[in-house]
Amino acid sequence: MSNASTVSSPPLDVIVVGAGFAGMAMVRKLAELGFTVRGFERGSDVGGTWYWNRYPGARCDAPSLQYSYQFSEDLQQDWHWQENYAAQPEILAYARHVADRFGLRQLITFNTTVTQAVFDAANVCWSVTLSSGETLFTRYCIMATGNLSDRLTPTIEGLAQFAGQWFHTAAWPVEGVDFAGKRVGVIGTGSSGIQAIPVIAAVADQLSVFQRTAQYSIPARNSRTDPTYEAQIKADYPGFRRRNYGKPLAMDINLKLGTPKTFEVSEDERRERYERAWTEGGLALPFSFRDAATSLEANAAMSQFIRDKIGQVVRDPATAELLKPKHVFGCKRPCLDTGYFESYNRQNVALVDCSGGIDCITAEGVQVAGRVYPLDILVFATGFDAITGSLNRIDIRGCDGLRLKDKWADGPRTYLGLQTAGFPNLFMISGPGSPSVLTNMIPTIEQHVNWIADCLVHLRTAHLTRIEARPEAEDPWVETVRTLAERTLWGACDNWYVGANVPGKPRVFTIYVDWVSYREKCEAVASRAYEGFALA
Ligand code: FAD
Ligand code: NAP
Repeated sequence: MSNASTVSSPPLDVIVVGAGFAGMAMVRKLAELGFTVRGFERGSDVGGTWYWNRYPGARCDAPSLQYSYQFSEDLQQDWHWQENYAAQPEILAYARHVADRFGLRQLITFNTTVTQAVFDAANVCWSVTLSSGETLFTRYCIMATGNLSDRLTPTIEGLAQFAGQWFHTAAWPVEGVDFAGKRVGVIGTGSSGIQAIPVIAAVADQLSVFQRTAQYSIPARNSRTDPTYEAQIKADYPGFRRRNYGKPLAMDINLKLGTPKTFEVSEDERRERYERAWTEGGLALPFSFRDAATSLEANAAMSQFIRDKIGQVVRDPATAELLKPKHVFGCKRPCLDTGYFESYNRQNVALVDCSGGIDCITAEGVQVAGRVYPLDILVFATGFDAITGSLNRIDIRGCDGLRLKDKWADGPRTYLGLQTAGFPNLFMISGPGSPSVLTNMIPTIEQHVNWIADCLVHLRTAHLTRIEARPEAEDPWVETVRTLAERTLWGACDNWYVGANVPGKPRVFTIYVDWVSYREKCEAVASRAYEGFALA
C-alpha cells in the first residue's frame, strides 16, 4: 500500500474486528484488493450471530435466498437453501462454507478479543491490543463487532444460588441442552424467546414462560424452498438483488406502488387484506397497507387484528388476554414465529405474568409475586445491549485520547453510521446512524463493505493515509437520523432501538430508518470526493 512520505508505514493496512457476516465479507474484499488485512474474532469460528445463537428454534426471518451474500455469483448459484427461512445450523454451515471457499480462516485469528484500540496521530495508525496481550499496528481499523452481539443477562437477585442450570440464548452451548423430562423456565418473549418456546415446549416436562411485556408475532409460514421459485431467482440472481436494493428494507417485500392507506378501503376490504397477509405469513401483514409505520390509527387497526388472532388461537381466555400486546406494533421489533401462540394450548406450558418484576431467583427456581416456580433449567432470552454495546466494550481512544465511550455518553454520534469525528481511519460496519437492524442485513452489510473498500482504494490511489468524518457533517447527520425516526412510531415505547432495555443507557433512537435514501446518500458522498470527510 502507498504511504505519504511523512508517516511511517504500519505493518498492516487493516484490522477487522469480528468475523460475523460483516467481518468475513470485509476481510475477503480487502484481501482481494491487495491490502494486508487481519481479522480477529472472540469466538472459535466464523458466523457471529449464527455462531453464538444456537438456541432451539433459532432461524432467520428474512428469506434465505435474500439473507445471503451476493458478492459471488458462483456462490449464490451453488448454494441451495433448504428452507425459506433457514435454521441456525444451516446459516452457520453457510458461513463456514464461505470461510473455506474463500480462504478466510488463514486471515482471521479466532478465540481472540480486541480489548483496546488507540489512535497514534504521529504515525497515523491504530495500535490494537488483543486479549493475548499482543499489540498490533494498523493504518485502518474496521469494527464489524455486531449490533446484536453484546448479550444482556439482567441482574436478578439470587441467580448465583440457583441449583439448576441456566443459559442465555446468545451463548448457547455447542453440544445443545437436553430438556427432556425437565422443568424449564424461559425469561423473555422477544424474537429469541418466541422462537425457542415452541421447540422447548415440545420436549420439556413443564415449561414456565416469564413474560414482562406481551409481544406481537406473526406466523412465518416457513416451508421447504420451492425449486421452481429458486430456479426463477437463480435465472437472474443479480437482477433480483439489484431490484431488492432499491426497496424498503433492501428486501423483496409486498409493498408496491399503489398500495393503499388503511382507511382508503372499506372495512371489508381491510379485513380481507389482513386475512390474506396473515395466511401468507412473514412480513406481508405490516406491508399490507402503506401507513402502518407512520399512522397511529392505521397501526391500531392492524394491532387489533393481531390481538383478535391471538384470541382465536389461544384457548384459555385469561392466557390469551395476557398474551395480547398493548403497545404500538413495530415499536418493539416484531417477531415471526412457528407455533408460538399455539404453545400455550399445551398442558405442559404455563404463562407467568412478571410485568410487576421478578422477585428473585432462589435455589429452587424463579419467584414472582411471592410464588416460587421450581425449575431444573432457566433460559434467559433477554436480548442485547444493542447497536453500541459491542463497540463500547472496547477501549477505543481517538485524537487527543478521546474515548469513544465518553464521546457517546449522551448517545452515539456518527456520519453515515460509518465513522465518528475524532476517530480517524476507524470505520464501523452497520454502525449507529445507519439503517442496519431495520433492513435485511446481509445485503446492507455488503453495501457498507463495498463503500469502505472503495474508499480505501481511493485513498491508496491518491496517496492519502487519513480519513475522518468532519464534525460539521456529523452534526446534521445525527439530526437527520433523529427527524426521520420521529416520522415513524418506532420510538414510541421502551425497546432496544432506543436503549431502554439497558439500565442507565441514554434514550436515543440511532437507526437511520430509510434504507433507500441512505444508500443514495452514501453513493452521493463518495461521488463528491467523500464530501463531509477530511482526507489527508
Ligand atoms: P455479528 O454476527 O454479531 O458478528 C460480530 C462478531 O464480532 C461476533 O462474532 C463477536 O464475537 C465479534 N466481536 C465483537 N466484539 C469483539 C471484540 N472486541 N473482539 C473480537 N471479536 C469481537 N438480521 C436479519 O437481517 N435477518 C434476520 O433474520 C436476523 N436474524 C437474527 C437472529 C438473531 C438470533 C439475532 C441475534 C440477530 C439476527 N439478525 C438478523 C441480525 C444479525 O445480527 C445480522 O443479520 C448479522 O448476522 C450481523 O452480522 P455482523 O457480522 O454485523 O455481526
Ligand atoms: P429482546 O427483543 O430484547 O427481548 C428480550 C425479552 O426479555 C423481552 O421480552 C424483555 O421484556 C425480556 N426481559 C428482559 N429483561 C427482563 C427482566 N429483567 N425480567 C423479565 N423479562 C425481561 O431480545 P431478543 O429476543 O434476543 O431479540 C433481540 C433482537 O435480535 C430482535 O429484536 C431481532 O432484531 C434479533 N433477533 C431476530 C430473530 C429472528 O427472528 N430472526 C431471532 C432472535 C433475535 P420487555 O419487552 O418487557 O423489555
